[in-house]
Amino acid sequence: MAKDARRRITLAGRTFPRPAHTRVLTVANQKGGVGKTTTTVNLAAALAQAGATVLVIDLDPQGNASTALGIDHHAEIPSVYDALVDGTPLADVVQACPDVEGLSCVPATIDLAGAEIELVSLVARETRLAKAISAYLASPEGAGVDYVLIDCPPSLGLLTINAFVAAREVFIPIQCEYYALEGLSQLLKNIELIRNHLNPDLHVSSILLTMYDGRTRLAAQVADEVREHFPEQTFKAVVPRSVRISEAPSHGQTVMTYDPNSSGALSYLEAASEMADRGAAHGSASTEENA
Ligand code: ADP
Ligand code: MG
Repeated sequence: MAKDARRRITLAGRTFPRPAHTRVLTVANQKGGVGKTTTTVNLAAALAQAGATVLVIDLDPQGNASTALGIDHHAEIPSVYDALVDGTPLADVVQACPDVEGLSCVPATIDLAGAEIELVSLVARETRLAKAISAYLASPEGAGVDYVLIDCPPSLGLLTINAFVAAREVFIPIQCEYYALEGLSQLLKNIELIRNHLNPDLHVSSILLTMYDGRTRLAAQVADEVREHFPEQTFKAVVPRSVRISEAPSHGQTVMTYDPNSSGALSYLEAASEMADRGAAHGSASTEENA
């Protein structure tokens, strides 16, 4: 409790440094249920609360990121599907998040489940999201966006490939549990393939340990192992397993608005702060191009 109070005082009301150019990050991990969506929406909300302009692109047909951000995404709503398959501008499908200023979302509807197959026969099928994002960032509506976070489905199909081609940075949430590292080498191999063939700038910039249970030795072991392999990329902040984090989406909220003083919200705020500082410190911001 005392520790949480200190963390709050350190971070409260802080405005994070803004990147010189838009940072586009894909939140990916081929495993399902590891915290991709939770990390996407809470980091996005934390960055926006600290003064950044943030766009979340929901690229998972389940639409969980849209739900958590309080965004309407029933079947008839214009969505990322229209952008990918019909070339509708993102500006026509983006919605403002009702609870957080500076945060908007391109929703996913159930239509997106078919896109994986529909994309196969389309021209430039791997670069459609990249084109949509660069057009948006160059438009009056998208000017001034600091971060684009893309929430991926748990597979390496054409949707995820589109996300990897559109982004410069990969953000990997890792669940501190059994088999956490299993599948990671496959993910890294796939990123390497994309880098060699489709997007030479793609790199893993950020790794966040999530669902950390401080009572188990296993969680500490997984965390140590990840830090050993990825000392540069792994964030100091660790997201604990927290009931408040898992409750928030059923209220159409992120934990950042649902319970901003909870330790889960504080962890995401710390992670967002590290992300912003790294972007500024590493100068990755200054070399960033809008893909
Ligand atoms: P993914 O997008 O990788 O499939 P989710 O972000 O949807 O994973 O998380 C999977 C489940 O775990 C969800 O029910 C979510 O609410 C829950 N969850 C995620 N992070 C935490 C956490 N830190 N503490 C408790 N539950 C969490
Ligand atoms: Mg998800």
